[in-house]
Amino acid sequence: MSQYDYLVVGSGLFGAVFAHEAAKAGKKVKVIEKREHIAGNIYTKEVEGIQVHQYGAHIFHTSDKEIWDYINQFAEFNRYTNSPVANYKGDIYNLPFNMNTFNKLWGVVTPAEAQAKIEEQKAVLNGKTPENLEEQAISLVGTDIYQKLIKDYTMKQWGKECTELPAFIIRRLPVRFTYDNNYFNDTYQGIPIGGYTQIVEKMLDHDNIDVEVNVDFFANKEAYMAEFPKIVFTGMIDQFFNYELGELEYRSLRFETETLDMENYQGNAVVNYTDAETPYTRIIEHKHFEFGQQEKTIITKEYSKTWAKGDEPYYPVNNDRNNKLYKAYKNLAAQEDKVIFGGRLGHYRYYDMHQVIAAALQCVKNELG
Ligand SMILES: Cc1cc2nc3c(=O)[nH]c(=O)nc-3n(C[C@H](O)[C@H](O)[C@H](O)COP(=O)(O)OP(=O)(O)OC[C@H]3O[C@@H](n4cnc5c(N)ncnc54)[C@H](O)[C@@H]3O)c2cc1C
Repeated sequence: MSQYDYLVVGSGLFGAVFAHEAAKAGKKVKVIEKREHIAGNIYTKEVEGIQVHQYGAHIFHTSDKEIWDYINQFAEFNRYTNSPVANYKGDIYNLPFNMNTFNKLWGVVTPAEAQAKIEEQKAVLNGKTPENLEEQAISLVGTDIYQKLIKDYTMKQWGKECTELPAFIIRRLPVRFTYDNNYFNDTYQGIPIGGYTQIVEKMLDHDNIDVEVNVDFFANKEAYMAEFPKIVFTGMIDQFFNYELGELEYRSLRFETETLDMENYQGNAVVNYTDAETPYTRIIEHKHFEFGQQEKTIITKEYSKTWAKGDEPYYPVNNDRNNKLYKAYKNLAAQEDKVIFGGRLGHYRYYDMHQVIAAALQCVKNELG
């Protein structure tokens, strides 16, 4: 019999929170991770004194005081406020869509003028119920914002025209009739000073936890299933079942990172490129997350792509077909009484960090009381 109570597959935030809480409750936990480092997609690495977000920009935000206090045990957070900008053919617009955006687009000054402009542009739909993403976007923000800031960006992100995408993808769009560039509505937000990796390091730093990286669960699935009394699995649920009901769809990303011999490349941490000609969706300039003053800077261009086996599955594609298939896998999972599925890939759900922490804490509660 194993000396461990749990095997946790994956050292991302879900696995790390579960392992940490189980260890605190006196359980022995082994964590295996197929990448060469811990922390999953929140991994950050210091290069030239700058914390580089290796798997895309991560900004922590929540309105839940308990989750905010929980994460603050593991790092001190700065006052970073997410205020991305959009670059459309060289013109810069503030996001989320707000009075600064409307002023730049139309010269309007008051909220009433902006609302009137949007109403006027929505009229092209003649009151029709939106049947696709294009119509949905126009019904929410009018034709100009759709054309310049949504249409091509969405196409790059999903690999499909807006007319081919379902309306539900953008049920709501962040639209604000104030001069406020803060992207999130949450009470708390920030970036951990010194990066995210330390958070997971501290979570896993416990006498009851052993961690092994460069270990893929599927290289020895049968043996793990036989040896461990319980397994928390945070990888792809369809892969766990050897895709026996079919493959779930994911979107993947490709990152191109460069160190530049200049202090400040784009003046903002996140710039979205919303035209069709630019092949990437955004450029991240990492130092601005921590108000860095280093002599050099590091930028990452982010490209969106269709997922194929072997790629990192960054985003679940929660359309009707995939949600139905996930439900069928969930039914299979319910019959595996040894295995608990969790996290973004185990639940096939786009969780933000605060949501994944909440889900992991709930899982611990269900498991350990
Ligand atoms: C580009 C991008 C930007 C994001 N930005 C934000 C943001 O700004 N704010 C926010 O709150 N959230 C953001 N998120 C979401 C955030 O990354 C997730 O909420 C969080 O990382 C999920 O943690 P997890 O443990 O579920 O998954 P993961 O971090 O994916 O961890 C799963 C781990 O399991 C490992 N694993 C998988 N299969 C196996 C196997 N067979 N054997 C061993 N190990 C395995 C993987 O290598 C991985 O390390 C973003 C996500 C992406 C992709």
